[in-house]
Amino acid sequence: MSETIEHVRCLIIGSGPAGYTAAIYAARAALKPVMYQGLQPGGQLTTTTEVENYPGYPKGTQGPQMMEDFKAQAERFGTDIRWGIATKVDFKGPVHKVIIDDTKEIHADTVIIATGASAKWLGLDSEQRFNGFGVSACAVCDGFFFKGQDVAIVGAGDTAAEEATYLAKLCKKVYMIVRRSEMRASKAMQERVLKTPNIEMLWDSETKEIIGDKGVTGATIINLKTKEERTLNISGFFVAIGHTPNTQIFKGWIDMDETGYLKTTPGTSKTNIEGVFAVGDAQDKVYRQAVTAAGSGCMGALDAERYLAAKGIH
Ligand code: NDP
Repeated sequence: MSETIEHVRCLIIGSGPAGYTAAIYAARAALKPVMYQGLQPGGQLTTTTEVENYPGYPKGTQGPQMMEDFKAQAERFGTDIRWGIATKVDFKGPVHKVIIDDTKEIHADTVIIATGASAKWLGLDSEQRFNGFGVSACAVCDGFFFKGQDVAIVGAGDTAAEEATYLAKLCKKVYMIVRRSEMRASKAMQERVLKTPNIEMLWDSETKEIIGDKGVTGATIINLKTKEERTLNISGFFVAIGHTPNTQIFKGWIDMDETGYLKTTPGTSKTNIEGVFAVGDAQDKVYRQAVTAAGSGCMGALDAERYLAAKGIH
């Protein structure tokens, strides 16, 4: 069924901090890694601005720039970085088969899965209808379009808090829609939100509908306690309610939890399939930081190297 078959020693699927770090280590260990970048080259950090908590950048850096730096470092040691998406896998035998873009077949001695996670949506029809026309899951990507206007953001985690304060710098007013009477975000982030004068908190609130014509003009919000409805006049509606791991193609092959996060042997990147390793957000729903993803990427490459050595695969 496939156009071409290629044999590689180490295949890395995904190109966020986990994938690039795996590539740096694997390339330096002479595993000749081939990386397929996936749908969003550079991963989620390419949709953020300032990164202040990655060690080694005392003045902070920009997420997209940081990913360019990671990529350059992986390339410097010879990683073969390619466009393409893994669309199917077959992990039956000792050679792991991965299909790229439904056409190309790779036979890999080792596979490092670094496919990350993607944004969740509320599930409203109107949310999908206006996606790209006022509805967005990335304030940093799209906030600029709403400069000087009123917008709303749903969510109460660190992402929502960070994005609300980001939007508050650009927009006239930001409504923050929180489904409970408290936020999940860290105390420091909560304080930052609550101290921002142009953010209005809408506690115990749920979005009933996003209203608009060609683009968003408003949203109907219901207070879950009082059952009162309110219409917000907004032109931008941001969703920041968490993420889903990009692991669908591994279903039936790699053990995963009920939400799709890949299971690894604690303290390692090993999955239930010998020679297949999982790193970064695809297997981490707890920490999900660039630095922890990078650390686990390193583990993936070291585990792959040791697996090849133990099997005597050269
Ligand atoms: P989280 O899962 O932490 O938070 C999701 C938020 O969305 C929760 O407040 C949740 O509400 C709310 N939510 C979920 N579903 C719905 C829904 N259908 N309707 C309304 N609200 C909903 O995701 P984040 O993306 O914020 O963060 C992920 C991880 O990344 C966390 O560990 C976080 O600490 C980390 N992070 C760290 C940053 C940093 O350190 N700079 C920046 C960004 C993220 P409820 O609370 O009621 O469940």
